[in-house]
Amino acid sequence: MGRAFGIELEGPVYTCKWCDTHLGVPSDLISKETEDGCLVYVFSRLFNTILLAEANADFHDIYCVGCSNDIGLYGVSDPNCFRVLRSELQGPEGSDDEV
Ligand SMILES: [Zn+2]
Repeated sequence: MGRAFGIELEGPVYTCKWCDTHLGVPSDLISKETEDGCLVYVFSRLFNTILLAEANADFHDIYCVGCSNDIGLYGVSDPNCFRVLRSELQGPEGSDDEV
């Protein structure tokens, strides 16, 4: 566990709630949406993540490289649109979006 490898981002960052790996920056946050009662953050790009194709290939699961946790979904038809469950993220320290 922990940051065995990966990129350290500068400034305010969204991190993996489970292993503190840096995943994204607020400037790449496109929108915040609610899906099936879950809050989802849509990023234009992510760091330190792995995409794995699901069976139907229309969506890829997004995994954190630090802890291999499934943190969201990437739609193949919608490039530059990484949908991450807010419940898997920790907001930038000291920001309004922390927790
Ligand atoms: Zn993680």
